[in-house]
Amino acid sequence: MSDCIFCRIIKGELPSKKEYDDGEFLVIHDINPSAPIHLLVIPHRHIETLMDLSVEDLPIVARLHAVIQKIATEKGIAQPGFRVLHNVNDWGGQKVFHIHWHILAGKKFA
Ligand code: 5GP
Ligand code: ZN
Repeated sequence: MSDCIFCRIIKGELPSKKEYDDGEFLVIHDINPSAPIHLLVIPHRHIETLMDLSVEDLPIVARLHAVIQKIATEKGIAQPGFRVLHNVNDWGGQKVFHIHWHILAGKKFA
């Protein structure tokens, strides 16, 4: 979608600090980090919210977990651990309506 911030980042129209891109998933550093390490895992495919995932999209979610494992291993955060967060719609705190997962690390969460 032309007015979607994450689609524009994926297309290279807007800058970002990239950690990983395999053509299906982009991983970037959050512009306003809420932990020492704050990454966003973003599927290239524009899907607005978790509620819009179709059965056909579910393999994306499975592969996304492999990407999270790879990033966590490479960043050395698998131990002692990290948090994966996914916000859904207004009350869930979702601000960008292109589905994405937060990886938060570098501190101990309650
Ligand atoms: P949400 O609240 O939708 O789950 O998370 C959106 C996240 O995207 C927020 O943590 C916000 O800081 C981040 N964000 C918003 N705009 C940009 C941007 O242009 N670049 C990057 N790298 N992160 C962004
Ligand atoms: Zn988008």
